[in-house]
Amino acid sequence: MSKSKPWTPDEDKILLSMRKKGKKYKEISAKIGRTPRAVCNRSSVLTKATAERDAEIAMRRKWTRKQKMAFIGKKVGEGMVISSVAPLVGCSIMRARELLSEFREMERERRSIPTRTRPCCKCRKIFTTQHKCRFLCDSCNSSAQRMGW
Ligand SMILES: [Zn+2]
Repeated sequence: MSKSKPWTPDEDKILLSMRKKGKKYKEISAKIGRTPRAVCNRSSVLTKATAERDAEIAMRRKWTRKQKMAFIGKKVGEGMVISSVAPLVGCSIMRARELLSEFREMERERRSIPTRTRPCCKCRKIFTTQHKCRFLCDSCNSSAQRMGW
């Protein structure tokens, strides 16, 4: 089996532009000097590569910052190194590191105890607390404690 000559970028360019203009493989083969079959094969390789690349780029573009963060967090959690994850989401390693630390920060917050907002039983001021059985705001609570309630 004779191994065919590799395609040059120029040949690829001619092939793609002629296909765009609706030229037949036979016409292209005459122009490039390869068999119509070779032109046809190459055309499908190029079309597929272009479609895949476009799909990939589109996918990355559509990713929100949160999705990127979640993806990086998941992959790193699975043991993938950050330098391998970064190209998958189309960003630099440095940027991926930033997103990862943001992701971890977010996860920490998500896991932390929910805070409750309620009015203070004494001064009616709205306050937030992480304690379930806290009905006084911080200042009322500390004065209450001082007074030995
Ligand atoms: Zn109060």
